Amino acid sequence: MKWEGNRESDNVEDRRGENDGGGNGGGGGFGFGGRSIGIGTIVVALLGSYVLGVNPLTLLNVLSGGGGQLSTQHTQQTPHPPADDRTTSFVQTVLGDTEDTWGALFKAEGSSYVKPTLVLYTGRTETACGRGQSASGPFYCPADQKVYLDLDFFQLMQDRFKVSSEFAEAYVIAHEVGHHVQNLLGLSEKVDQARRTQSERQANAMSVRLELQADCFAGVWAYHANLDRKILEKGDVEAALKAASAIGDDALQRQAQGHVVPDSFTHGTSEQRVRWFGRGIASGEIAQCNTFEARQL
Ligand SMILES: [Zn+2]
Repeated sequence: MKWEGNRESDNVEDRRGENDGGGNGGGGGFGFGGRSIGIGTIVVALLGSYVLGVNPLTLLNVLSGGGGQLSTQHTQQTPHPPADDRTTSFVQTVLGDTEDTWGALFKAEGSSYVKPTLVLYTGRTETACGRGQSASGPFYCPADQKVYLDLDFFQLMQDRFKVSSEFAEAYVIAHEVGHHVQNLLGLSEKVDQARRTQSERQANAMSVRLELQADCFAGVWAYHANLDRKILEKGDVEAALKAASAIGDDALQRQAQGHVVPDSFTHGTSEQRVRWFGRGIASGEIAQCNTFEARQL
């Protein structure tokens, strides 16, 4: 996938390194201007301030290389600026690309696209939909319009599913953005309403249609991104299809515990996921993604 140098989104919130008081965070440090500080640095700062008689925060600032403002789990109102590394840059670029693509598609329909925020976190984090855990995979929370992503999921895709491709990772992000698009179109709400009045089996069937549509929307994004910015390289689509197939419900349930799955267990079979992503990327048309009316998924 070719993405370097393309526009990066400003809507990435970096909570990596924050522990959220849950004791299960990666790193276990405090976020500090986007940097993670280990407990050792803090001990040194506290000792140093005792000896030198200066404010420990000032010393902490010096020890960590200076710069940003102190931010702990108690001050999550102030989002961290994203860290400056290749993976963050990749996530910002993919999100930026979905913004440009969906912005244009919404505009063509006479409406405007409200951009979601993408939160990078480690371990677990607070969301308007309750506490998010990386064990449940990437997910979208309609209540705060944020996509939550623990980058360890990409490592897991490599380790467990043998999927190693930036475009496959982009597909995962685009799928979550697809849920945001559904939210903006009012589809998530409709499905939620239906779920409340239906049997569990019917409700699950609705969820599958919602998930397959998010796959199709991810394909629609890829079609337009490639048309406008030539992002696709040889093997990319195959890798994304492999990812779609690897993280289908049936494939997951064949895995021993199968407890890591993007946002729910009701995503449809591998074959269905591949088919709907394929429909989206082949046509680039939102109208091709009407999984709710489709007789055959
Ligand atoms: Zn999903």
